[in-house]
Amino acid sequence: MARRKYVVGNWKMNGVTASIADAQAIFAAAGDHAEVDVAICPPFTLIGAMVAAVPGAAVGGQDCHSAVSGAFTGSVAAPMLADAGAILVIVGHSERREGCGESDADVRAKAEAGLGAGLSVILCVGEPREVRESGRAIDYVLAQIAGSVPDDFDATRLAIAYEPIWAIGTGLVPTVDDVAAMHGAIRGALAARFGGAAEDDMRLLYGGSVNGDNACELLGAGDVDGALVGGASLTAAKFLPIVAAA
Ligand code: PEP
Repeated sequence: MARRKYVVGNWKMNGVTASIADAQAIFAAAGDHAEVDVAICPPFTLIGAMVAAVPGAAVGGQDCHSAVSGAFTGSVAAPMLADAGAILVIVGHSERREGCGESDADVRAKAEAGLGAGLSVILCVGEPREVRESGRAIDYVLAQIAGSVPDDFDATRLAIAYEPIWAIGTGLVPTVDDVAAMHGAIRGALAARFGGAAEDDMRLLYGGSVNGDNACELLGAGDVDGALVGGASLTAAKFLPIVAAA
């Protein structure tokens, strides 16, 4: 069975109550593209309000703690996201790997926590610029995959987002051939480790400066099942052309 396209907005640290209107506009118009799964990951503070405003919408968290509860001031546990109405969580975003010092083992534990709470998980990987320039990008990303993807999961609930760090928020994008080569390598590594379900059911997203102008090309690259979108996901005007391109 063909994998459904998946376009996910990562609002990062943007959005207040008034921004719920943008989410309503996005989800309403996304209904015209029933063949595409559309999700938004707003800041934690907006998850409950977004779910209430758009019942049934796919709303997610941008991170979770690996523990179920405890003395972790400022953190949010995966079951709390589920309790707030989220159905997915992003883990391993480079802004957390780099900015918060998260290791592959941390990311793996968070992915396990998300799956354990019944959430779908989008697990991010991606290389820094100097690694890309040194020609080691595929080895680097495959090592992240080896270290951060859990051993046991339902392949329909775990997606990988390939997000080259140098492409995030910069307006720079890899060539379509480079995206296809990376996604092919990721797919091959997953298939070798997990077999058929990973080969057939896991979705591989591309992320990094996707916009309405480049979405068709990037989403048309080999083994790209959708996009994780930052800056261009904040308004319907910018996000919907990407959904339409998928
Ligand atoms: C992201 O933060 O996941 C991302 C891809 O950001 P942008 O689309 O702004 O590059």
